[in-house]
Amino acid sequence: MKRSPTGTRLAAGLVAVAALASGCSEPPPVHRGPIVLITIDALRADLVGTGLMPHLDRLAADADWAGTSIASSSWTVPSMASLFTGRQPWRHGSWHAARASLRDDLPTLPEILRDLGFRNAAFRSNAWLTQTFGYVRGFERFGPVARMERVTGVLRTLDGGPQFVWMHVLPPHAPYRLHEPYIDRLAAPRDDLPERITPLEMRQFADPALPLDVDLRERAWQLYQLNAAHADSLVGAMLEALRESGHFDDALIAVTSDHGEEFGENGQVLHGNNLHRVLIEVPLVVKLPAGWTQPLDPGPVVANYRLFSTLVQAAGGTPPAGSPPSLFETSRAGALSELYLGCPWSRRGARWCGRAGSPRPRTATTTRCWRLRTANRRRRWPRSQENSWPGSSGSSRQLRP
Ligand SMILES: [Zn+2]
Repeated sequence: MKRSPTGTRLAAGLVAVAALASGCSEPPPVHRGPIVLITIDALRADLVGTGLMPHLDRLAADADWAGTSIASSSWTVPSMASLFTGRQPWRHGSWHAARASLRDDLPTLPEILRDLGFRNAAFRSNAWLTQTFGYVRGFERFGPVARMERVTGVLRTLDGGPQFVWMHVLPPHAPYRLHEPYIDRLAAPRDDLPERITPLEMRQFADPALPLDVDLRERAWQLYQLNAAHADSLVGAMLEALRESGHFDDALIAVTSDHGEEFGENGQVLHGNNLHRVLIEVPLVVKLPAGWTQPLDPGPVVANYRLFSTLVQAAGGTPPAGSPPSLFETSRAGALSELYLGCPWSRRGARWCGRAGSPRPRTATTTRCWRLRTANRRRRWPRSQENSWPGSSGSSRQLRP
């Protein structure tokens, strides 16, 4: 699990020298090598460790911390905004399609790393994670992840200096496709699997009043798993290119997801419709640079947006006031997930109307022992110990449309 300290690129700065000279305890290490962040869209935590994703399984087995983490929301916009700003959705305000842009006044992870001397490249997918919505901020290079030869080319030629590379892999996000090379990884593959199942075919079952067809559920679930196996092959190619660069051991590597995916477990499908566990439990894998002396000890429940503070701190920066604790700090607090739905308040018994429009907060609080899900009938804003880090107080009124 731990690697040898050879080849380490840890650099202690002037602060370290001063601290040692004055007899203080040793300051935390500072990473001046590559940081590689891979986000896999809509990947449920329970798929990892099943043999479906051997590359990710192997990375997890060798990592310094690997396990289930809790996403800040159950769909891309609020959850990725939390990863990029270190803020809960109620603070960054990216709740729905009309408010999908990152707030200008919140520094993003790549901006902070750039200011710490990192050169940043992004290879993204998903229509929400574009220049239009502010995800280009802080990156020198910003392109599609679909051009894999460019992605692996950048990874293969890393020079070992401070470079941040973010890659967002779209599968297993729908459409679910029949990736035949991986069909043997399914426990009991059906012989009537279609070539693909689109979100449009599934979307009607987001209405909790409409029971999901059993056959469709099974076929969609199997294709989703094949999508995950395909995503794993992309991750494998990225990790292999990193190894070829000679800086795999020196790199800080983090892999996580923005949310999970539902196949009727809570009466709905796809994602972004509720905060059931299959939608907010996502994998988190962190491999520290070889020779790193500070252990990861995050505590029993891990909110995955703590990765923001972890990467900033590892790079020698100080997370902005109000950021969550890094994974180097033990926290006993639970994790808060939020979702804002758009049903009109006055329509009693209204049918499902999905995510859009005026905010109607739902929350899920996960602790070591329990998870509480609430559907707030009034405009009650999430306020709990889970989002009251030092400096995190503020008026939610400022965020209203
Ligand atoms: Zn997503």
